[in-house]
Amino acid sequence: VIGASKIARDITEQVAIQAQLEQQTEKLKELNRAKDEFIGMASHELKTPLTSIKAYVQLLERQLKGEAQTALSITKTIRHVNKLSGLISDLLDVSRIEAGKLQLDFISFPLGAFLLEVIDSVQHTTVTHVIECKCDIGELNVYADRQRIEQVLTNLLTNAAKYSPKADKIVVEAVRTGNDLIISVRDYGIGIPQAELDNVFSRFYRVKELHPSFSGLGIGLFISQEIIQRHHGRIWVESQEGSGSTFYFSIPAFKRKEE
Ligand code: ADP
Repeated sequence: VIGASKIARDITEQVAIQAQLEQQTEKLKELNRAKDEFIGMASHELKTPLTSIKAYVQLLERQLKGEAQTALSITKTIRHVNKLSGLISDLLDVSRIEAGKLQLDFISFPLGAFLLEVIDSVQHTTVTHVIECKCDIGELNVYADRQRIEQVLTNLLTNAAKYSPKADKIVVEAVRTGNDLIISVRDYGIGIPQAELDNVFSRFYRVKELHPSFSGLGIGLFISQEIIQRHHGRIWVESQEGSGSTFYFSIPAFKRKEE
């Protein structure tokens, strides 16, 4: 009888501990949800005034075209506004992803011309590196969200430039293998330690110990991975510390039956 009551007590204790754990898990989930909601709200709040500032500064720039020094200050201001605006958009994307609300808009477009256009646009703002393109894929069309794939490629290219401060070249390559198109971005920079290779796609993850001097939020690759996975593709990286990294992503060359 004593044994039975001990077992009963143990079970009661176990049940109480279990209930406590469940309560704590619920609380953590709630906090996590509140945090995601906060990021979303804060990003919206920041974006609205920034959009107005941008419009007014652009107007001033047009009005002051003749006055070289003032126009230069304004051009620099616009560059900073664009950077801030990009950061906020990324934060908004993270909260959309967490809420399962990132929408994709699929269309069919020629990949070769698209790659050249994106490279050209990034090259425009990247004076330190020459971006080479080995993109001989003919007239191939892809069925994808053009803007979102542009976001992925731009992110990989700006990372390649940022994390290779001593190099002056970035190489983009596009190849077709069977049903897939594989696009790669190669840099000759600091590289990534082997043990960190899988982590770089995690939300808010940055390889800090190695290069605390590089700015960033650690969300670009997380967003890129989500975008590529939503295209039924894959994104991955190969890297050698000290000699550079190659980021790859694949997307199907053909429209899937269910789309
Ligand atoms: P961010 O660059 O804003 O920190 P990302 O999500 O784009 O965020 O990248 C996550 C991390 O992966 C970076 O902080 C950096 O440590 C590492 N990383 C990304 N691209 C490269 C690269 N081309 N070379 C070396 N490290 C990189």
